[in-house]
Amino acid sequence: MPQGCLHLVATPIGNLSDLAPRVADTLAEADLIACEDTRVTHKLLQHLGLQRPTLSYREENEKVLAPELAQRISQGENIALLSDAGFPGISDPGFRLVRECRSRGLPVVPVPGPNAAITALAASGLPTDSFLFKGFLPPKTSARKRFFTEHEASPYTLVLYESRHRILKCLDDLVEVLGEDRCICVAREITKLHETFHPGPAGKVRERVRNGSQKGEFVVMVAKEGYQLTETG
Ligand code: SAM
Repeated sequence: MPQGCLHLVATPIGNLSDLAPRVADTLAEADLIACEDTRVTHKLLQHLGLQRPTLSYREENEKVLAPELAQRISQGENIALLSDAGFPGISDPGFRLVRECRSRGLPVVPVPGPNAAITALAASGLPTDSFLFKGFLPPKTSARKRFFTEHEASPYTLVLYESRHRILKCLDDLVEVLGEDRCICVAREITKLHETFHPGPAGKVRERVRNGSQKGEFVVMVAKEGYQLTETG
């Protein structure tokens, strides 16, 4: 029996027009779609006029499902892995299944598309030549401050995900540890109706975020020490 394949399918982070045509072809041919929230994926399938079997693949059941799905792929099934938005495996479930497939020599084919970190960084005005993606910071203030202290002299642009519930607390900790003048950029609701980029000194950006709406999703980026947006060359 020929081997199947794992397709890692990236989906829009807000704007459905960002859906790559290859996504529809891949999903149409999948024997099974493993996805985070089946209701979210059913909406996408409906939009594409497709009906495919789905299975909920979440952080809580990833350990159990990863070997099971890899086994099914080794027996010839084509499985597509999706998260609710963006790239599966990036601050979302997926890594374990990819590792399982790679360790068994099974094919893993990416179907690339939007990712919040890369999209935010590219449009931020902060250096893009080398960056450190850390995903979500710990929820506790003490751990977050420790993170900023440890990365104070980082030569890389830091790229972080943050929720609307914690965005102001995160910026408070950032300003306290790195200072009001540290160059940062906060991106909110990228590709959506209320897309906003706030680049500038941390103190001013915090004020703008505080005075604006904190609804939605955020990416926080921190430039290396000494970098200013007005630099030339
Ligand atoms: N796998 C996704 C990716 O490839 O970007 C990330 C999933 S992670 C669970 C969700 C976080 O990504 C949000 O809390 C936010 O920090 C960031 N994010 C996702 N979509 C976004 C958007 N449209 N604008 C700003 N940040 C976004």
